[in-house]
Amino acid sequence: IQQTLSIIKPDATRRNIIGEILTQIEQSGLSVKALKMLHLTQEQAEGFYAEHQGKDFFAPLVAFMTSAPIVVAVLEGENAITHYRTLMGATDPEKREKGTIRDRFALSYRENSVHGSDSENSAKREIAYFFTPNEIV
Ligand code: ATP
Ligand code: MG
Repeated sequence: IQQTLSIIKPDATRRNIIGEILTQIEQSGLSVKALKMLHLTQEQAEGFYAEHQGKDFFAPLVAFMTSAPIVVAVLEGENAITHYRTLMGATDPEKREKGTIRDRFALSYRENSVHGSDSENSAKREIAYFFTPNEIV
């Protein structure tokens, strides 16, 4: 059993589709083990996406991620990291598989509705970035 960090991004919270996205997550077999809504500060967004510092898309990404509240969640299940990345769909809009969360809801390359950890190490780091151990049930 594995855990991963999910973020429902500002483009989605703004459009009132938190519930639809959580429904798709739960119907896929993943369980929610922690959940909260917050509005990232500039510093929090830069720290979360530190691996992308220096890239062209970094500043607009941070601006987007701080533009409205987000919903962060810890998801659990068999191979949760890969399971959730598959459910999300590709980052590149041209490669998004039909029926994935991003295929259904993303507005653009950047405004792609959801985030999911991409490895065991990033899942550990990202879960600890938003949750203390006693907030995870
Ligand atoms: P995330 O980390 O948010 O789950 P990802 O792992 O699919 O997404 P990354 O390569 O980590 O993709 O990029 C982080 C985020 O930066 C993307 O989700 C997207 O919002 C934005 N982004 C990445 N590449 C581009 C790009 N070429 N143009 C615009 N935005 C981009
Ligand atoms: Mg990523």
